[in-house]
Amino acid sequence: MTMETKILNIDKDNIDEDLIGQAADILKRGGIVAFPTETVYGLGANGLDEEAVKKIYKAKGRPSDNPLILHISSKEELSPLVKEIPHKAKACMERFWPGPLTLVFKKSDIIPDIITGGLDTVAIRMPDHPIAKKLISKSGLPIAAPSANLSGKPSPTKANHVIEDMMGKIDMILDGGDTGLGLESTVLDLSTEVPTILRPGGVTLEDLKVIIPNVIQDSSITNKQDTPKSPGQKYRHYAPKADMLLFVGDIDKVVEEINKRTKDLRESGRKVGIMATEETRNKYKDGKILVVGSREDKETIAHNLFHILRSFDEAEVDIILAEGVSPDNIGMAIMNRMVKAANGNIIRL
Ligand code: AMP
Ligand code: MG
Repeated sequence: MTMETKILNIDKDNIDEDLIGQAADILKRGGIVAFPTETVYGLGANGLDEEAVKKIYKAKGRPSDNPLILHISSKEELSPLVKEIPHKAKACMERFWPGPLTLVFKKSDIIPDIITGGLDTVAIRMPDHPIAKKLISKSGLPIAAPSANLSGKPSPTKANHVIEDMMGKIDMILDGGDTGLGLESTVLDLSTEVPTILRPGGVTLEDLKVIIPNVIQDSSITNKQDTPKSPGQKYRHYAPKADMLLFVGDIDKVVEEINKRTKDLRESGRKVGIMATEETRNKYKDGKILVVGSREDKETIAHNLFHILRSFDEAEVDIILAEGVSPDNIGMAIMNRMVKAANGNIIRL
């Protein structure tokens, strides 16, 4: 079944209140609206309305045991949604909200099960984007908003990505230009004894250690054998249509191996995509070469990664050979997404 999807252009530096009002009305009436945040585009619905939230799962084709993040526009909106606000949460909110940090709390009774996938905890974040903030505050509701892509595909960082995946399935798309960070938020569980990162993201382990020195990462992030504590982390994500191989290790060896494999693969008739970086671009000769960013400035790689994955699909390559990055700071979140996109196919050199 298809429906009419309205697309509105909004200038994030000069927001048209009337357009935000139209979008907020849709949310209040139980509809769904895609909107930009500083991480990726979100697919929003009234987080307290079970029927509205069902529409998100349906539009995305998202498994129902993968819980959603609630988005708020001010810290005051938090307390009705949670049982308690631990000390550590206050410190994190003080330092990182608004921003790309999602906190997991013990949930209050007003949160429907469909949001939490039946868990007794709820994930909440306050985005740092003028359009997202205005839309949430105008609706007066906590807004459930997963990434606005079809489940399994790379998350959307441009309105065009949302149009590709959601046209005819949702009520409205707010086109506010490219998102900033380009990767999703960090998910930090504060409902247990030891604060634990369930998904690496925009706020890094290094950043968090300054505020909560005993923070750890869920072991499933670095060890594939372990079952993730966060339900969504067990699914294949960010997957391009092509196969993908991820090469990690000494960068000169990585380049040499990618060149060798490109030659072999092309000889056997396969269309090869190479995900290169500015520093290595000129060392590749054959294949569809796309530059994801600079190794010296990994934020650029975070910003472009999902778009580049979608661009390889458009170029209809059969296989993507990608350079990994070192997993420090934002590199941890980048590698987490790359490993999933490659379905765990890592070549260590
Ligand atoms: P997305 O909305 O696509 O950015 O994904 C949301 C992520 O947050 C998924 O990895 C979920 O598993 C995780 N998440 C949401 N709610 C909870 C929760 N209550 N406990 C643990 N992880 C959660
Ligand atoms: Mg997602």
